[in-house]
Amino acid sequence: SLNPTLNYTIKSEILQLYKPRKKWSHKGTFGHALIIGGSFGKIGAVTLATKAALKIGSGLVSAYLPKCGYPVLQIAVPEAMVEVDNDTSLEYFNFKTNATVIGIGPGMGTVEKTANGFERFIKENKLPLVIDADAINLLSQNKSLLNFLPKNTVLTPHPKELERLIGTWKNDFERLEKTTDFSKKHDLIMVIKGAHTVIIDSTSKYFNSTGNPALATAGSGDVLTGIITGLIAQGYEPINAAIFGVYLHGKTADIAISETSYETFTASSILKYLPNALLDLF
Ligand code: AMP
Ligand code: MG
Repeated sequence: SLNPTLNYTIKSEILQLYKPRKKWSHKGTFGHALIIGGSFGKIGAVTLATKAALKIGSGLVSAYLPKCGYPVLQIAVPEAMVEVDNDTSLEYFNFKTNATVIGIGPGMGTVEKTANGFERFIKENKLPLVIDADAINLLSQNKSLLNFLPKNTVLTPHPKELERLIGTWKNDFERLEKTTDFSKKHDLIMVIKGAHTVIIDSTSKYFNSTGNPALATAGSGDVLTGIITGLIAQGYEPINAAIFGVYLHGKTADIAISETSYETFTASSILKYLPNALLDLF
């Protein structure tokens, strides 16, 4: 793992995290990521996260989403397996998939039925989790659920989601301090997203060195959720998956703007440039 005293995630350190593929490996070697999310009008979010988990190399990828999103997801990501919940929002959370890690939240919404199903899911779940977007918002609404999260669950809030979770801050130092306290209290890995994303666990803070404002675009965070989930599926420790995933996500945008523009970069461009970001390590 990374040297905790060197807290800026530069290429040489990131390279040490990389797990090369062995010749005799098979898809089972690289785990099974399950992405849960979506609601009517926000099926794209869960679709992007599912694509990302696959693209970063998870051996198998499943998606669990409302029924209305089934044809869209299955056509957009033919490699994925799909199970469905109720018609337009998640309610039952009764998937049968044998996943090794779950990424949950993108496009999920926060209607009451979803909140109730989510509560049941969190109380029963034993798998490693990556929690994003509306799943973070539901935790903020029902903080007692924090006690049920597995140790080293990864949370990936953007500033508004973080504020709902830990309250407001006066400046960046206070934000770091409050988030660190929160991370220690609940044994969580916090990814504070922004221009310089910070990854925090109970002992260290890692400041990401990649990325630019091209990433300030719809669906950008959903792709990050899929990347981190797909890395955990492949056996990366959650803290390393967060550090490595955030680095690669940012790197796609840094490479892209040498040949395209900030404005025309979209969340799908992150997926397009993911191979370049990986190759740039070597
Ligand atoms: P979300 O708001 O959930 O879509 O997440 C946005 C993603 O884009 C996060 O990974 C942010 O770190 C990244 N991002 C947003 N704005 C910037 C910026 N100005 N520079 C670098 N990364 C950014
Ligand atoms: Mg988001």
